[in-house]
Amino acid sequence: MKFQYCRNCKTLQKRSWYSFFSCRRCGAKPVVIYIKTGIIGYVAYAATFIAMFLVVAKVIEYDLGLGDLNLYLMFGLLTVAMVCMFYEIGREERLAIEKVKDPHLR
Ligand SMILES: [Zn+2]
Repeated sequence: MKFQYCRNCKTLQKRSWYSFFSCRRCGAKPVVIYIKTGIIGYVAYAATFIAMFLVVAKVIEYDLGLGDLNLYLMFGLLTVAMVCMFYEIGREERLAIEKVKDPHLR
């Protein structure tokens, strides 16, 4: 995940695809901070991917032979994905805050 740190107004923000090269608060050029995705993050991606696969199978009416389990798996996996993402974002934010404390960035 990418974060951006603005030296001008001292704010740490999540970097998103629509705010490329400017601080959302003051418009100054931010410093980009890269945080490596952790295991929990990959678990979240994997769970999302499998859930999407189950949804697609349902939509095209491809029978995976799971019966009612299909529905439970979908919701279960999506819940797992959400919870994992929640923790992953928290972890990455903490790491980004640590990096921002680096005197070279100030
Ligand atoms: Zn700013």
